[in-house]
Amino acid sequence: MSEGPQRRIVVVGGGTAGWMTAAALARFCVPQFSVTLVESDEIGTVGVGEATIPHIVLFNEALGIDEAEFLAATGATYKLGIAFEGWGASDQAYVHAFGQVGRGIGLLPFHHYWLRARSLGFAKPFGHYLLNTIILAGDRFAHIRREPGNPLPPVPYAFHFDASLYARFLRGYAEQRGITRQEGRIVAVNRHPTSGDISSVTLANGAQIEGDLFVDCSGFRGLLIEQELEAGFDDWTQWLPCDRATAVPCSSVQPVTPYTRAIARKAGWQWRIPLQHRIGNGHVHCSRHISEDEATAILLSNLDGEPMAEPRTLRFTTGRRRKAWVRNVVAIGLSSGFIEPLESTSIHLIQTGVNRLLELLPAGEISETARDSFNARSAFEMERLRDFVILHYHANGRQDEPFWDELRTMELPQSLRQRIDLFRQSGGVFPSLDELFDLRGWVQVMIGQGIIPERWHPLANQIEEEKLRQFLEMTEQAYIREAEGLPDHGAYVSRFAPMASNE
Ligand code: FAD
Repeated sequence: MSEGPQRRIVVVGGGTAGWMTAAALARFCVPQFSVTLVESDEIGTVGVGEATIPHIVLFNEALGIDEAEFLAATGATYKLGIAFEGWGASDQAYVHAFGQVGRGIGLLPFHHYWLRARSLGFAKPFGHYLLNTIILAGDRFAHIRREPGNPLPPVPYAFHFDASLYARFLRGYAEQRGITRQEGRIVAVNRHPTSGDISSVTLANGAQIEGDLFVDCSGFRGLLIEQELEAGFDDWTQWLPCDRATAVPCSSVQPVTPYTRAIARKAGWQWRIPLQHRIGNGHVHCSRHISEDEATAILLSNLDGEPMAEPRTLRFTTGRRRKAWVRNVVAIGLSSGFIEPLESTSIHLIQTGVNRLLELLPAGEISETARDSFNARSAFEMERLRDFVILHYHANGRQDEPFWDELRTMELPQSLRQRIDLFRQSGGVFPSLDELFDLRGWVQVMIGQGIIPERWHPLANQIEEEKLRQFLEMTEQAYIREAEGLPDHGAYVSRFAPMASNE
């Protein structure tokens, strides 16, 4: 790093990753650091990405963003979970909901008691004991502030939003707080003659932008991290073979559902994401099993509203950059890797990348230890997430469809194999504290897709049968009462977003 009073950070790229990074740097690092963001209107952004997970609420809060203002600016709606349709079997559905699973009854996670109740013949399907699942089934939502002593769990939520509008919103935020934006296409990347670090980038108009630290947010191409520094890429296509997504927005319909739908199709799956002013739709598919034309036809014949644009197909390779931090370049966003949007995690990975960068921001020279720590945490996070997404495909119960048969019988990563075996044998799940999806997510997906443990924890037998029956009934009834008291989600959102609802 330079010895000057201000360290110079250059963010390359102005998509969601670039502007989320710039906004966080603006909030926490300016004026100690000078920050320049370079983006090219000519190249543009990936332009999709609409569903998130609850951590985004914390990101906005950390920036001090007013939620109502954010909703209005990005066309956002609330999201309580994802409905997976046709994954366990063609005619089955389940929800992976945010928030607590069941309620506390003893020492053990709720699903052990549910398993016992199931064997006794009085448990309803698992989703009957999840507050968010019950609320979203009624298309309701409201912020609920819990009073101390209230035994019901909170209602965690995320958003559906237009990621391009979010980037624009954050651009305003970052520019107001001292970030310099430079428009132009980067045509050359220049290295320091002795250290080999990146020293500057040259724009098509000849301007040179110098920096001490570069954040590569240039999207799939990885302009600095791969094209210049050749960090390498771990290709995960063998486990996650989908490599195309065709996207098309359509007009809104009622009700405005507070959840994402992920509907399994012949050789992939279709997303449905309701925003205030439109519905985002896309068909993630595998080019080895289906043509682009057929995938597009399937998508267009399964829209709820009228198409609002021509369908657009994006190509991708699932995997991760072997090192996300090389020399003085940190890759954040698509430049650091990509896992298809089945669990809506890419924007979250931007957030965790930004968090890690802020934690390890060098005061002077960049240390090898900082780089190694960043890379090790990034690798762990992506690999566990990869396993979680593979689980959905592998545990499919669909019959006689080549794509799904292939995935059901594939060789799994050892880490996932062990996890499934342990759950099947004993109901045990031990995600590490660093994992994005904890026990609640894993249990919902495994049970939802038909992986039912052979046994439950022996301590679940301590509770008397009648008490267990009453407890399950009370839990479900309490959640139903709570849900019935909430307003319609669409009506609730429109109160918070006068600008968008007047469009
Ligand atoms: P991009 O949007 O590609 O931005 C790259 C930036 O770099 C642009 O500003 C470009 O102009 C600039 N740039 C590149 N080269 C140069 C150059 N030579 N000179 C100057 N500037 C340059 N995520 C979710 O969380 N939820 C979802 O539901 C979701 N759905 C998705 C669906 C699909 C099909 C895909 C492909 C992705 C999805 N994502 C989703 C991921 C999400 O879209 C991205 O994580 C997010 O948009 C971040 O993209 P990015 O900023 O890394 O890259």
